[in-house]
Amino acid sequence: MTTNNDQDHLIPIDHPRYESLKYRHKIIEGMKALVVAEAGLIAHGRGECFDYMLGEKTNETAKDAIEAAVALLLTATHPVISVNGNTAALCPNELVDLSEIINAPLEINLFYRKEGRIEAIKKVLEEAGAKQILGLDELKMVEIEELSSNRRNVDPNGIKIADVVFVPLEDGDRTEALKKIGKKIVAVDLNPISRTSIWADITIVDNIVRVVPEMIKIAKKLKETDEKNLKNIIKRFDNKKNIQFSLNTIIKYTKKQKKKTFIKLKKKNKNQNLIK
Ligand code: ATP
Ligand code: MG
Repeated sequence: MTTNNDQDHLIPIDHPRYESLKYRHKIIEGMKALVVAEAGLIAHGRGECFDYMLGEKTNETAKDAIEAAVALLLTATHPVISVNGNTAALCPNELVDLSEIINAPLEINLFYRKEGRIEAIKKVLEEAGAKQILGLDELKMVEIEELSSNRRNVDPNGIKIADVVFVPLEDGDRTEALKKIGKKIVAVDLNPISRTSIWADITIVDNIVRVVPEMIKIAKKLKETDEKNLKNIIKRFDNKKNIQFSLNTIIKYTKKQKKKTFIKLKKKNKNQNLIK
């Protein structure tokens, strides 16, 4: 009998969309292992669409935002990395490395709390080398006001006391709630006009799979510099401009593609006319 579980396939490395398909596959595998919620698949698709329009690469604007984000996390007293199913499925090893380098604990915080999901994500993070994971003990969790869903529960040793929270692929309601209780927010969101992107203090408009490795690289460098330099980087950063530049990148890329596609279509039409 054919089931949804029979979709395993090998993606040839020379496939033009190899990278994209590889991560799509990781999300599907994550869903089968309970790590990713069904809705996480759709959220991934929404992200892919924006990634396409950004040229599927880390642009200069995102690089500046990454530098500011790392500086803010390094100067924080209690930085925390909030982990959901999609991020755990896409880049668990890198999340663990980043957590160690910037000295920020990982806290599992989910939108969809299906039975067994927290354990599944815990397993993925532990296999990636995580030694300490917050957000596991439901009984010890405390509530944050401003949020009605079950994600109002946070770890008393994590997000509750955090001054800076790193929230990759976050929902707008939660970002807004965290802002309202005074947290500084670093977001990763491929959609520069999502509510999360607009509410965050620093919005990295790029794919999480490229962002975290870049953050690790920058953190290694910035850890060697002094506090004054870090504060200057943060001061120079303007999130309003960052979002505008990210939108400009999409506009420019789309215009370029419009020209390229027009040339391709013209060639195609010519060839077809020859065949006729
Ligand atoms: P908001 O709640 O902020 O208004 P939304 O409801 O459109 O946004 P959510 O599903 O709540 O979206 O959040 C997921 C966000 O994560 C989306 O904006 C999506 O574009 C983004 N996203 C999905 N996959 C990735 C990825 N791999 N890297 C970065 N961002 C991603
Ligand atoms: Mg949302």
